[in-house]
Amino acid sequence: MAAIRSFICIDVPGEVKAAIERVQAKLRRLPVEVSWTRPANVHLTLKFLGEVEEARLGRVGEVLDAIARDCAPFELVTDRGGVFPTADRPRVLWIGVRDERGLLRALVAQVEDALAQYGFARELRPFTAHLTVGRVRSERSARELARLFLAEEFPSHRFRVTHLILMRSDLRPDGALYTPLHIAPLQERS
Ligand code: ATP
Ligand code: MG
Repeated sequence: MAAIRSFICIDVPGEVKAAIERVQAKLRRLPVEVSWTRPANVHLTLKFLGEVEEARLGRVGEVLDAIARDCAPFELVTDRGGVFPTADRPRVLWIGVRDERGLLRALVAQVEDALAQYGFARELRPFTAHLTVGRVRSERSARELARLFLAEEFPSHRFRVTHLILMRSDLRPDGALYTPLHIAPLQERS
């Protein structure tokens, strides 16, 4: 049976994508090979699932619905830029996301716990809320790129989280193609 590469994420508003596009436009001039995230593809990953048998994905959707039913929409704020793993050897450029009330962290823990019950492996690395801006593909000038990226004034945007998305990811040579498989709306408690 077919396996589908997938992950769980939340969407960010168009203003954030546009701000990321502006930073990318500035940095594109540098002689570094970077695969820049398409602005429309920018998202906040809650959990990467990897290859999942198609038959198990319905269960993941149900898990997200159950969690979303008991989770009111909440706000996050975009923060400064950062790089993984280090500014000397940057691999991933990202914009941080501030989770002032710890609600995102709690949500991620709930997703991990619920999916662990259905046999999905737990993420071992600590959760870092971030929006990937680009992935560095060459060593040349990468330090300079990281320095300039980290010096950028990225505007702070407050936005509302309203849905959990189960996303399919098809890796293509020209960038990943994302397709939402299931969308779970966070429910306002009455
Ligand atoms: P590409 O791999 O072609 O650059 P992509 O990284 O956007 O594209 P995926 O590799 O399918 O597409 O990843 C989907 C999402 O899951 C991204 O947000 C990515 O950062 C995250 N992700 C990918 N692999 C892992 C992993 N091993 N652990 C945690 N998160 C991951
Ligand atoms: Mg990837």
